[in-house]
Amino acid sequence: MNFARLATNAKRLHMSDTTIGLATRPTAMIDPFGRTISYLRVSVTDRCDLRCFYCMSEDMTFLPKADLLSLEELDRLCSAFIAKGVRKLRLTGGEPLVRRNVMSLIRSLSRHLDSGALDELTLTTNGSQLARFANELHDCGVRRINVSLDTLDPAKFKTITRWGDINKVLDGIEAALAAGIAVKINAVALKNVNEDEIPALMEWAHGKGMTLTLIEVMPMGDIGEGRIDQYLPLSLLRTRLAANYTLADLPESTGGPARYVSVGETGGKLGFITPMTHNFCESCNRVRITCTGTIHTCLGHEDASDLRKPLRASTDNELLNATIDRAIGTKPKGHDFIIDRRHNRPSVSRHMSVTGG
Ligand code: SAM
Ligand code: SF4
Repeated sequence: MNFARLATNAKRLHMSDTTIGLATRPTAMIDPFGRTISYLRVSVTDRCDLRCFYCMSEDMTFLPKADLLSLEELDRLCSAFIAKGVRKLRLTGGEPLVRRNVMSLIRSLSRHLDSGALDELTLTTNGSQLARFANELHDCGVRRINVSLDTLDPAKFKTITRWGDINKVLDGIEAALAAGIAVKINAVALKNVNEDEIPALMEWAHGKGMTLTLIEVMPMGDIGEGRIDQYLPLSLLRTRLAANYTLADLPESTGGPARYVSVGETGGKLGFITPMTHNFCESCNRVRITCTGTIHTCLGHEDASDLRKPLRASTDNELLNATIDRAIGTKPKGHDFIIDRRHNRPSVSRHMSVTGG
């Protein structure tokens, strides 16, 4: 990545905002239901070094590399959203840390932390590459990350991910903690796979000062297996946990889908993300961009607008900003996931690795 050019571009864009006047100043993103968009999740690649069975099929077909936005384009796109009021930026994937030179993008984006335009730069990762990047991430201002880990059992981990080595993930988590990065563990609750292990996973996470968030399987993308076999309602898990632990509801804060409880016995926090059983859409403040520059304003809808074309059409952001505004204007009120025996097919055809979870 050419930093000198990026810096010049950033300066020029900044100048044009102020010199042309209020008419071209990027406007805040407020959707038709009055929700202000301040959180952007960006998938920087659809590729991954693992193949979690609920996420991808083993012979997953990835996008042609030519379709992907370059790192410079990703930087420009993220910066345009930051100029329009995004305060929190999460990089995800696929696996964000397998994108070649991803650290140059992260370093470049960290200028928005330095300027105060951005409150948080973070990522969701499977942790497999974290050991080698942890210190640099901290150096770039990353202070919190989410690491996905569904089990502590090496054999089960291999089964879930199809070939992953759990030790790399555990080393990555230790490296991140040692670097001063707070880690939140995300675990997908899977019927007959890790359901009995949740208390152990929670005790382990809380023992290291990490929050554990449980996620219900969402019906996204054809993965060659029926979702009904994987789906485990978190309400059931919560009831089971409540038999042995003191769970106390915590007030909501993030505007996100997670609901948190404190666990009396461990002193830690446990989150529940329940798209299937709990509607969290009223407070949704986020939009997602794929690695090809498609914006999805709702994880659970097929709605999509292309930002790559306006991004490439011109070096100033006027067209891009107008396209973003139009897309925000289509953000639906809420989603409508269904998994049942009649609908044993994905209700949204794109994979989670495309939108990035
Ligand atoms: N590769 C990174 C990782 O695994 O953390 C980031 C991308 S991954 C798609 C983001 C999150 O989505 C992970 O926590 C993963 O467990 C979750 N996920 C993937 N497919 C899912 C599905 N069908 N239902 C619920 N969560 C899913
Ligand atoms: Fe890769 Fe993350 Fe999907 Fe697992 S959940 S296959 S680590 S993208």
